[in-house]
Amino acid sequence: MLEVPEKLRAQMRMQRLLQMQDTSLIRPILQKAGLRPTRQRLILGQFLLSGQHQHISADELHLLTMQSGFSMSLATVYNTLNQFAEAGLIRKISVSGQRTFFDTNAHNHQHFYLEDEDRMIDIGGVPLMLSPAPQAPAGYTITKIDILVSLKKI
Ligand SMILES: [Zn+2]
Repeated sequence: MLEVPEKLRAQMRMQRLLQMQDTSLIRPILQKAGLRPTRQRLILGQFLLSGQHQHISADELHLLTMQSGFSMSLATVYNTLNQFAEAGLIRKISVSGQRTFFDTNAHNHQHFYLEDEDRMIDIGGVPLMLSPAPQAPAGYTITKIDILVSLKKI
């Protein structure tokens, strides 16, 4: 889960966005990605794609929408996140095949996973490289390499 101040800030931001109802920035982003600008996509898109870099799960985003008084099912939130990821607007990152986070920074970068807090943060500095890079089997090309470093408090 997010830390409390971060969670509160996210909630306030979601509420502000819902009140603004200004979709002029997000509408063209969705259209360019080939996604029809439905109300759900506009709302979640405004929250996810308005500039602030964040790592969020479908559960957390669903909770935020509910707390902001916008009724949307968890399935809708999850489907919308997956559509955004497929369109390359955000990045989907799975942890041990159980937890899935969505990263609003779709560019190539790697992550620390804080096991105790069930939270993901970016590894700063120069992007890590696998050296030598693995050879893709015949007929395949490597599209991305995810590096996730799990951490535990000592
Ligand atoms: Zn990230």
